[in-house]
Amino acid sequence: MSDQTRVAIVGGGVTGCAIARALAPDHAVDVFDQGQIAGEATALAAGEITMLSSYDDRPAIGWHAVEFFRDYDGTGTFSFAERPSIGLITPDREEAKRRYAARAADNGLPVAFLDRETAAGRYPRFDFSGFAGVVEHGVSGFVDPYTFAVTLQHDAEADSARFHTNTPVTDVLTDGGAVTGVEAGGERYDADHVIVAAGWRSRAVLSDQVNVEIPIRPYRTQCIVLEPEEPLPDSFPMGWYPGEHVYFRAEHNGDLLVGGWSFAEDDPEGASSNADEAFRRHVADLLPTFLQNGDRAGYVDDWAGIDAATPDTRPILDTPAEGPDGLVVATGFNGRGIMTAPVSATVVRSLITDETAPFSTDPFALDRFDTRSADFEFISISASE
Ligand SMILES: Cc1cc2nc3c(=O)[nH]c(=O)nc-3n(C[C@H](O)[C@H](O)[C@H](O)COP(=O)(O)OP(=O)(O)OC[C@H]3O[C@@H](n4cnc5c(N)ncnc54)[C@H](O)[C@@H]3O)c2cc1C
Repeated sequence: MSDQTRVAIVGGGVTGCAIARALAPDHAVDVFDQGQIAGEATALAAGEITMLSSYDDRPAIGWHAVEFFRDYDGTGTFSFAERPSIGLITPDREEAKRRYAARAADNGLPVAFLDRETAAGRYPRFDFSGFAGVVEHGVSGFVDPYTFAVTLQHDAEADSARFHTNTPVTDVLTDGGAVTGVEAGGERYDADHVIVAAGWRSRAVLSDQVNVEIPIRPYRTQCIVLEPEEPLPDSFPMGWYPGEHVYFRAEHNGDLLVGGWSFAEDDPEGASSNADEAFRRHVADLLPTFLQNGDRAGYVDDWAGIDAATPDTRPILDTPAEGPDGLVVATGFNGRGIMTAPVSATVVRSLITDETAPFSTDPFALDRFDTRSADFEFISISASE
């Protein structure tokens, strides 16, 4: 019998897998998923890693993730494809975006405003005639999310973590104001810490099982894959079109993945797993406005999935003050759970071990929210960035 601290993780998505890997070397870790490992939002993600632009106000957080992905590249079959990202800037936004890029560069971030001619020279597959230029983020990339999650899982298993699939957690057990374990698949598992990383279902798990409320709500987000007339080269950047609910990147085979079109979803169980017809039409109309021969791209595939949103688009990685001792929450990733996984793992490890994270964890504190209501306005990051 091990005398290590025991940890039960509810949810085997990328968050649960990353946390398991970070804790497994010196904890006895059990991960429970009601379905398969990485079977929900994680498997459906576009895999974009844009942490420096997502945390341009907190570069230490962005760099922590980027450095993890660089180090982890080449582990098993996992790879991190580094590509720059460009934001397409219409003339009405030019001044504001030039100021933004100058400020970011002053703060040491790899960001620059490229005027139309410079951008066209660097990225020849685009048609920039309707744009003033682009904001270029020099450090970003993408991963295959499923491969990432199962590589984390295999690492954790090599350190003796146990993964239990088709094993729903039906109760978080407590005694004297502290967690004592979980009831999962009809059996009791003792634990000193219980980490709820159950994606958009975390609100129900916490409220039903430990009477803790958190402000998250489900939202639905979508992807379409298209085959351009000529395959896209490795030099093709990732990018987004501010205000148009669209981001994009090339696939390794030269196809184009377009994501976005995210809206709050009141019926997450019943929602369609296909992209909306309106999104397909929007992409068909928009593509020729920035991609050469964009009207000649053929349809390949589409899908939609559910993730959890918070009121300020940043996750909750914390120990709720009103919850039992030993309870940790890791959810509310707003379409960034893959890229945030290394940060989630470091923060949760710091909460459990009292090690200090190498960045401020304030942006993830639950008490930054005045209310715990799930009735807040959903902010789509693909529409607003
Ligand atoms: C179309 C789409 C595109 C996206 N693109 C990107 C992107 O480019 N970059 C990026 O960083 N992020 C992206 N995301 C977001 C990302 O997928 C999520 O933020 C991330 O997968 C969340 O991981 P998670 O482990 O927290 O949750 P999930 O992957 O949802 O996993 C939660 C797990 O908990 C399990 N569970 C729930 N309740 C219980 C219970 N009671 N007992 C046991 N298990 C339970 C579920 O079965 C599930 O497997 C995208 C999402 C979608 C849908």
